[in-house]
Amino acid sequence: MMTYDLDVIVIGGGAAGFFGAINTAINNTNLKIAILEATNQLLGKVKISGGGRCNVTHHCLNPTDLVNNYPRGGKELRSAFSRFQPQDTINWFESRGIKLKTEADGRIFPVTDDSQTIIDCLVKTAQNLGIKILTKTPVKNIIKSELGFNILLKSEDILTAKQILIATGSNPLGYEWAKKLGHSIQSPIPSLFTFKINDKRIKDLAGVSVNNAFLYIDIKQKKKLEQKGALLITHWGVSGPAVLKLSAWGARILYDNKYNLPLIINWLPEYNLESIKQELFKIKDTVSKQKIINYSQFNLPKRLWQSLASHSLSNDDKIWADINKKEIDNLAIELTRGQYFIEGKGIFKDEFVTCGGVTLKELDFKTMMSKICPNLYFAGEVLDIDGVTGGFNFQNAWTTGYLAGLSLAENNRII
Ligand SMILES: Cc1cc2nc3c(=O)[nH]c(=O)nc-3n(C[C@H](O)[C@H](O)[C@H](O)COP(=O)(O)OP(=O)(O)OC[C@H]3O[C@@H](n4cnc5c(N)ncnc54)[C@H](O)[C@@H]3O)c2cc1C
Repeated sequence: MMTYDLDVIVIGGGAAGFFGAINTAINNTNLKIAILEATNQLLGKVKISGGGRCNVTHHCLNPTDLVNNYPRGGKELRSAFSRFQPQDTINWFESRGIKLKTEADGRIFPVTDDSQTIIDCLVKTAQNLGIKILTKTPVKNIIKSELGFNILLKSEDILTAKQILIATGSNPLGYEWAKKLGHSIQSPIPSLFTFKINDKRIKDLAGVSVNNAFLYIDIKQKKKLEQKGALLITHWGVSGPAVLKLSAWGARILYDNKYNLPLIINWLPEYNLESIKQELFKIKDTVSKQKIINYSQFNLPKRLWQSLASHSLSNDDKIWADINKKEIDNLAIELTRGQYFIEGKGIFKDEFVTCGGVTLKELDFKTMMSKICPNLYFAGEVLDIDGVTGGFNFQNAWTTGYLAGLSLAENNRII
């Protein structure tokens, strides 16, 4: 068994760990810093992120608007973002020669469309700063000592450091250590998933998408669970930005209900039940000879219209002149208040994240240091912070890693 002394140990070689270590080293060049990574791959999630392109951050440069993209952690991140926000992320990477581009929906990627660009930048920067990077080095335990922390490795070697940063993402060991060191954990559950829906109205429509649907989960509480945006029908049920956002904001409620809840879809959010009825009566008068399922004057994919119309009519061959009041009511409900049932959750392969983690009020968000255990820091997904899809989760890793780095560098001068 061997013992090594360091100033700062970062546990976890992901986005938050690298950003924390690098910003510590930049701000205090005298420190001995190590990143300990359990696997043989550094920045493994960066590699697979954004479908292999790495959606680094989001073009939302106002901290007040930015926090609205975090179902958990928005309040705490407000001041953190005033110190390091997406513009700072862009500047940080661009000043290191990484060109970024913003897509129409606000997502920001490296122009190479290759996550390896981001990995190379972070690894090279850390190496140039003299940070020790140890892969295949799983940490087994953390023991608080008088002088700092003893880090027990799986190899039985012990590293010691005055300060440590836990950046272990959603790994259960990170939560376990946090608890042992006095913190409470908000139970970890999935966020950012698709909905499984088995319903004949959408059964054969995989691939059909609408640009702007309004989704609503009736939870019979004051808190509203609703989202607007693009929706994609899949073989399984529904996906797309509106569904993913709803899954994030509703992560706990959906979990508590075992992913079994009614979902209301308004396929035409510019209408409500009354205004759509008026519109349907107008259509009845103006195109009375047309067959209903062939004629939609709404901006809806043809196959979706046909399915909803067919579901509302007593027979598919009806022309508009023959539609009766009951059928107009049915169609109006289908278009603006269709009730579906979520029967489970699916995965969204481009991005997923954990809701839950270290309780935020136990940390000082100016420094990311624990209020309970001095010289213990946290950054990234290990915290009870998660964002919707679009680059917000990495922004959390960059911001909290950056703030931890500044404080680790500064604090080391005084302890
Ligand atoms: C498929 C996928 C795609 C995604 N795409 C995007 C995207 O495009 N944009 C976006 O903003 N977010 C994306 N996310 C979310 C984003 O990847 C995470 O929020 C982010 O990686 C969190 O960074 P982190 O450093 O906190 O944790 P992680 O990236 O999870 O890093 C933690 C590290 O700690 C290591 N570790 C754990 N336990 C130990 C231990 N005992 N000893 C030593 N090391 C340990 C792990 O091996 C890991 O390398 C995606 C997530 C997934 C799963």
